[in-house]
Amino acid sequence: MHNLTLSELAAGLRSQQFSSVELTQAFLSRIHQHQDLNAFISVSEDTALQQAQAADQLIAGGNAGPLAGIPIAQKDIFCTLGVKTSCGSKMLDNFIAPYNATVVEHFNQAGAVMLGKLNMDEFAMGSSNENSFYGPVRNPWATDSVPGGSSGGSAAAVAARLAPAVTGTDTGGSIRQPAAFCGITGLKPTYGRVSRYGMIAYASSLDQGGPMARSAEDAALLLQTMAGFDTKDSTSVDQPVPNYSAGLNDSLQGLKIGLPKQFFSAGLDNQMAATIQAAIEEYRKLGAEIQEVDMPNLELAIPAYYVIASAECSSNLSRYDGVRFGYRCQNPQDLADLYTRSRGEAFGAEVKRRILMGTYALSAGYYDAYYLKAQQVRRLISDDFKRALSGVDVLMGPVTPGTAFRIGEKTDDPIQMYLEDIYTIAINLAGLPAMSIPAGFIDGKPVGLQVIGNYFSEAKLLNVGHRYQQATDWHLQVPKGFE
Ligand code: GLN
Repeated sequence: MHNLTLSELAAGLRSQQFSSVELTQAFLSRIHQHQDLNAFISVSEDTALQQAQAADQLIAGGNAGPLAGIPIAQKDIFCTLGVKTSCGSKMLDNFIAPYNATVVEHFNQAGAVMLGKLNMDEFAMGSSNENSFYGPVRNPWATDSVPGGSSGGSAAAVAARLAPAVTGTDTGGSIRQPAAFCGITGLKPTYGRVSRYGMIAYASSLDQGGPMARSAEDAALLLQTMAGFDTKDSTSVDQPVPNYSAGLNDSLQGLKIGLPKQFFSAGLDNQMAATIQAAIEEYRKLGAEIQEVDMPNLELAIPAYYVIASAECSSNLSRYDGVRFGYRCQNPQDLADLYTRSRGEAFGAEVKRRILMGTYALSAGYYDAYYLKAQQVRRLISDDFKRALSGVDVLMGPVTPGTAFRIGEKTDDPIQMYLEDIYTIAINLAGLPAMSIPAGFIDGKPVGLQVIGNYFSEAKLLNVGHRYQQATDWHLQVPKGFE
């Protein structure tokens, strides 16, 4: 059962080949069997089985939607009523949200079953899942290596078949980079497409939730449930949600693909470049036309991002003060001591580093030099994309400079870690949608191809991903030991 696609699972449930309770039990037992991966922070066994029972009744009633009875799991950044939401942090290790995130509500309304909450870098800051208070996640393809981050638990769970599909969030690459490292399909939607209500804020102008699944076809079904206008999120966009599955099979004849020259320059590893070129060759066979595009400001994306994201996080994380919720230090001497020790004891090193950088960048006298400048650079980068996308349908390139690295390999060097996001971050600055699809292997480790589209072109991206997955079988490979 664990290798079936979402539509196959839905068909199996309807034809009573298995019940949702049986399906849920099967995934729960795989989760227990593969605890070593550390993909989950919480497993919500009891509520999952209750939801599965309810779904079985719904399906028997005959008017259930496509995700009814299907087990999924949520990144532990989405607030879930009654189930702990830690955001990977000691700060929220005791936090049980009094409400559901809109995304979680949507899955509940669809009758989906939530298996539990997935491990992640603390407050979504990181590229390896090594910043989690709950310890690193292992990559099912090479258990001495990282799954990527911050949605590392999400990617590992899908690759290891611990859940058929899951959610992730992407502020600078956190859906696409772990999807690439774990050989799965991950889509970061247009900023504003998926509600951020109840999704714990890291850098609000960049954060966006999206689907992570084995194929573009499955991701389409997930996005259908996640997307939509939400009055509770002021940056959510009031635009109708198209049918994401309808155009999956559209022909790619005449599709114009742009290759940003800067994505293929000196910094790209040879094997990585060759694998990406081979994937692009496959698109040529499918009828696409390829051309080079120039995006001169791309190289400024990382510095601009680390100023903006740190500035926004320093403000967002000021709410964790030991007073209203979350961790509180023992025996505070006075109010200042309460603030300082609660924050000092409960935030990890990377979160502290970003709060320090962000506070500095926003401080009087430095604001113009750093934050304002970074926002200006952000505009230049958006303009680069606007220009490039005016002549082509999609852009393509690598997701990451290399494949999954070993646990511990980059932890002492934050700059090396930040460079992981070199191909993904600019897309968040521009607010565009982008997807990572499995496109091959280097030394047994998965490689992701990135497909970037114009605003609200998710359906096109999924079509471009699906046609490739009809022609190739990279997305069907299963890591050894998880068949
Ligand atoms: N790795 C990037 C960071 O640490 C992106 C993280 C993300 O997308 N949440 O900020």
